[in-house]
Amino acid sequence: MILFKRAGDLREHLEKQRKQGKKSGFVPTMGALHDGHISLLNASVKENDLSVVSIFVNPTQFNDPSDFAKYPVTIEKDISMLEAAGCDILFLPSVQEIYPEGEMLKKKYELGYLEDLLEGKFRPGHFQGVCQVVHRLLNIVLPDNLYMGQKDYQQCMVIKKLLALTGLDQAVTLHISPTLREHSGLAMSSRNMRLNEDERSRAIAIFNTLDFIRQSIQPGDLSELKAEAVNRLTLSGFQVDYVEIADAGTLEPCEKWDGKSKLVALAAAFLGEVRLIDNLLLN
Ligand code: AMP
Repeated sequence: MILFKRAGDLREHLEKQRKQGKKSGFVPTMGALHDGHISLLNASVKENDLSVVSIFVNPTQFNDPSDFAKYPVTIEKDISMLEAAGCDILFLPSVQEIYPEGEMLKKKYELGYLEDLLEGKFRPGHFQGVCQVVHRLLNIVLPDNLYMGQKDYQQCMVIKKLLALTGLDQAVTLHISPTLREHSGLAMSSRNMRLNEDERSRAIAIFNTLDFIRQSIQPGDLSELKAEAVNRLTLSGFQVDYVEIADAGTLEPCEKWDGKSKLVALAAAFLGEVRLIDNLLLN
């Protein structure tokens, strides 16, 4: 695996590879890697000649400064995991390298209603920061294929929109991988490292609650089911930002289900200081 810290060096290297006809896959991450990240890399290794992973904890997507300051960093372990999984290139830039002209957003990405609901509503500015960094990284790596996780359901929709807005959809294909979970059902997440033992055992409630929705949902009004889901999470010690049942294609909240349309249940909640998110396709 080759490690690049400078965007210019990486760009030059990849340009040479492209001229040799090599197809590349790209997995952007914030590090503190787990098997969920590695599953994206595995998909890339299978489908490309060259796989690039970036590790960059992007300051502009954190609306909560203490969440940024406490984001786990495990770089040596990350490098071992990437090497073992057959990663060809690790891009490990500094903040200065990604934002040489400062972290201010130069342009606003017109994400429409996606920015006003769920994660957009509870983390103002988050998706602008995500678009800023992914746009910048894509312009450096220029991959054929981009790999992201369904774990961040709304983020995948935002990135689809970003690709369309920038015309990058002509060059880059987005692949969405299923969420990898612990045996308990808990979605793997870098933030799980911040949970103590007691919180970790209680964190399973987030998956159990989404699964409860999947098993209980009936056509008709969904407000009672949503309220019961919030109640279950609260009783498990979570402070709930939202539990929503939404159209799987548009993410618009569903109040009354016709029994046919495809739905996704999504939740975001705090356990102590740690904010966890998860989602489950219902049908
Ligand atoms: P992050 O490092 O949290 O920014 O995540 C980097 C990528 O890994 C994103 O596309 C995530 O959606 C994806 N990812 C995170 N957790 C999981 C998981 N448990 N299973 C599959 N993909 C994941």
